[in-house]
Amino acid sequence: MNRICPGCMSAQIESEDKGRLINGLSSSYAVTCLNCGWKGVDTDLLGIPDRLVDKHLASGVGADTAQSIAETMATTLLTKIAGGAAHNMGLAIIEAGFVGLQDRTHLGRLIRAACLAAVRGVLLEVEAIHKEVSSGN
Ligand SMILES: [Zn+2]
Repeated sequence: MNRICPGCMSAQIESEDKGRLINGLSSSYAVTCLNCGWKGVDTDLLGIPDRLVDKHLASGVGADTAQSIAETMATTLLTKIAGGAAHNMGLAIIEAGFVGLQDRTHLGRLIRAACLAAVRGVLLEVEAIHKEVSSGN
């Protein structure tokens, strides 16, 4: 599984004290995104299955690494979702009454959050499908 930052889709993730127990109940470890500064635990990272990344690696286009391909796939998804749906997401947020039309700063922030949530939802479902296919279900 190729792991990327849930905040900016970067694969530039640094683990801190790898293997250190965060809450004493799991083997999660602290991670930091070197691109945007997001901090969390490894289980919060988004994943792209090796099988999907390997298809791009096998195509031999460029000298990309698996991590850079995973990053490109997620970034492309975010860009396409934002380009295709941001306007309607903005209208929905305004019509639902979360911000006014004049509050462009907060509206932009909410649209970005909605787009990131859409990417997160797709990638979590991709991972679930991958697990089902791998286990033969
Ligand atoms: Zn990041």
